[in-house]
Amino acid sequence: MKPLDLGGPRLRLLVVSPHPDDEVLAAGGTIARAAAEASVHVVFLTSGDGFGCGVRLSQRVLCPRPENFLSYGRERMEEARRALGVLGLSEEDITFLGYPDGGLEGIWTGSRAYPYTSPFSHCSTVPYEDALSPGAPYVAESIICDLAKVMELFRPTVILLPHPRDTHPDHRFCALFTLTAAAQERRGEPRIPQLFAYLIHAGIWQVAPVLWKKKALRPPRRFLKRNCTWYTLTVERCYLNLKRQAILQYRTQLEIVAVFMKNFLRPNEILSGIDISLLDRLSPVWRPHGSEVLSVIPPAAVELQR
Ligand SMILES: [Zn+2]
Repeated sequence: MKPLDLGGPRLRLLVVSPHPDDEVLAAGGTIARAAAEASVHVVFLTSGDGFGCGVRLSQRVLCPRPENFLSYGRERMEEARRALGVLGLSEEDITFLGYPDGGLEGIWTGSRAYPYTSPFSHCSTVPYEDALSPGAPYVAESIICDLAKVMELFRPTVILLPHPRDTHPDHRFCALFTLTAAAQERRGEPRIPQLFAYLIHAGIWQVAPVLWKKKALRPPRRFLKRNCTWYTLTVERCYLNLKRQAILQYRTQLEIVAVFMKNFLRPNEILSGIDISLLDRLSPVWRPHGSEVLSVIPPAAVELQR
C-alpha cells in the first residue's frame, strides 16, 4: 500500500455514506483531521431505516410497523449528527438524502415510472422533512440529482465513496450512484475531484479478531489480487480518540455489532484508487429524460484502477 496524505487547507473532502456509521468506520480519523485543517461534507444516501433487528431492539417492539422504521431512521440521523459533531463537523456540513435502507439496488434497477416502495417504511418518496429533497420519489434520477446538487454546491476536491465490490448491495449501488453523479458533474467542469473507495463489508475480513486492532488495517487478499492501488492513511492518536468517541455515538448499532465497529479502530485507514476514466464510460448512461438506461450498467462494469 502506498502512503496517502489528503491534508492541506485546500482540501474539500466529500464523504458519501450509504448508512449512518459507514463514514465514521471507514474514515473517521481522516474526517477529523480534515475538519481541523480544511473543509469536509458528509452525505448519507439512506437513514439506515430498514435494519429490522435494530428497530426491534431500539423501539422495543416485536413486530415493527412502518412508523417504527421511520422513528429508527430519525434516531440514526441524530446519532450521525452527534458522531460527526465529535469529529468537528456542524449541521451545515451534513446532508441526508433519505432514500430507503436496503433499497438502493431496487431503485437502480427499477423503473422511473414506478418508484420503489420500501418493504419496511412502506414509503415510495423521501419521508424525512430535514432531508435534501423531501417528497422526492424513490427513483434513480432523484438520487443522482441530489448527489449532483451536493457536488455542485460543495465543489469537492476529493470524494470518498464505498468500494464498488463491497459485499453489501447498498454500498455497491451507492458507489454506482456516486460515480454517475460525478460523471454528470464532470461535463463542462475542468476541475476533476480525486475519487477513492473505502471498504466496509468483505466477509471474514470485516470481523477480523479484535486482537488485531493495534495492527494496521490491510485490504482483504482477494482485493489485492486485482492489482488495484491501495493507499494507507495514518490516523494519529488524537484523531483515533475522536474516532472512538464518534463510534460511541452510534448507540443503536453498538448494541448489535460492537465488535465489527470497533474493528475499525486502527492506526490507519485504507482507500482504493478509482480510475478516473470510469467517469467517461459512465457518462453516457445518464439521460435526464431517458427510460431504463441506468439499469443496463451492472456493478461489474465498474473496474478499479490497475
Ligand atoms: Zn453501510
